[in-house]
Amino acid sequence: MHTPMFSLEVFPPKRNAPVGTIYDTLDGLEGLNPDFISVTYGHGTHTDRTATARIAHTIRNEYGIPAVAHLTALYSDKAKVDEALDMFEQAGVEAVLALRGDYIEGEETVGVFEHASDLVAYIRERKPELKVFGACYPEGHYQAESLDQDIEYLKVKVDAGVTHLISQLFYDNDDFYRFIDKARAAGIDVPIEAGIMPVRGAKSVRRMAERNASRIPEHLAVMLDKWEGDGEALRAAGIAYASQQIADLVAHGVDGIHLYSMNHPASTRRIWHNVQPLFGE
Ligand code: FAD
Repeated sequence: MHTPMFSLEVFPPKRNAPVGTIYDTLDGLEGLNPDFISVTYGHGTHTDRTATARIAHTIRNEYGIPAVAHLTALYSDKAKVDEALDMFEQAGVEAVLALRGDYIEGEETVGVFEHASDLVAYIRERKPELKVFGACYPEGHYQAESLDQDIEYLKVKVDAGVTHLISQLFYDNDDFYRFIDKARAAGIDVPIEAGIMPVRGAKSVRRMAERNASRIPEHLAVMLDKWEGDGEALRAAGIAYASQQIADLVAHGVDGIHLYSMNHPASTRRIWHNVQPLFGE
């Protein structure tokens, strides 16, 4: 029987938070044994570009879990990318998730890597031994003219050397199934993990949905309205919602689940507890 992959995502602690807080997160995830944990990359001028590599190193070497390092392109020149790749290599990462990144208001892009596919091709050339992952968007990227056009560019990105895709969050599995059908029809045949973001707060869900141009289905909107004023109840409903999404995805033969754990190990553990039997041993 096909066993889907299961992976988690964490982010480096915010600038003024003690770096040690990442240990609380990783300790809290102990025993879940995901296939990998990925670490996000902040690309503004004011972010610490070494944090991703340091945390990936910790995940790999102190917790014994394969680590994937995110890397963004828009605000980097080749020297900065080389520097990051060297750090990732030293950290022993399993793969690099090559991303374009979002435009930051008031900051000039470097102009070397315009799309993620440019970065993918560059990494393949510079470090052929590193695996390269990419992002995809079940509802279409917010800047794409249409889902079909976004998928055409996704094919270019995969052909540049991506061996594994991780999806943006979505709240309606039907959007994901439609996307998978279109991606497969377009000749994209690498594994595609479904990105699941547990609901924790009504405001943040609405904000993120607006930013990513993603849809809040009616049944989720009802849930947000009902428990908006009760954080604990909404988090419990969010755990149930994410668990239900995962159960349905696994039943439909999904390649993998990527849980955006958002450095909240308690919710992540509860979701894993609910769905673990669906992932075999
Ligand atoms: P691309 O693949 O370059 O696509 C971006 C847009 O350009 C799309 O509309 C696409 O259709 C279009 N496009 C692509 N190629 C072409 C082309 N050749 N010609 C014309 N148009 C083209 N951001 C961070 O800053 N740090 C992170 O760690 C991070 N992690 C993420 C992890 C995941 C799983 C996901 C889904 C997103 C993550 N992001 C992160 C956000 C990401 O940087 C943004 O979504 C960004 O807007 C797009 O990145 P991309 O790599 O998908 O871009």
